[in-house]
Amino acid sequence: MFRHSLCEQCGYMREIVSGKGSRFLMCQRATGGAALPKYPPQPVLVCAGFESRQVRDAGPADGNESGAAGG
Ligand code: SF4
Repeated sequence: MFRHSLCEQCGYMREIVSGKGSRFLMCQRATGGAALPKYPPQPVLVCAGFESRQVRDAGPADGNESGAAGG
């Protein structure tokens, strides 16, 4: 467990557990570049892409929902 990693509290983190029980933290905000790799070296202490899981779960602050365009 990466207790001191920002990823543990980030809404973009997805936990991957291998068949052998190894645990990896995948970044769903990854760009593929060095700044946001898909599997960031742990622990991550500073990250420009970090967004609290609680904030992500709460949704947009203005109450708008995406993808609900009328026609
Ligand atoms: S955005 Fe940053 S803190 Fe969040 S999962 Fe990706 S690397 Fe970790």
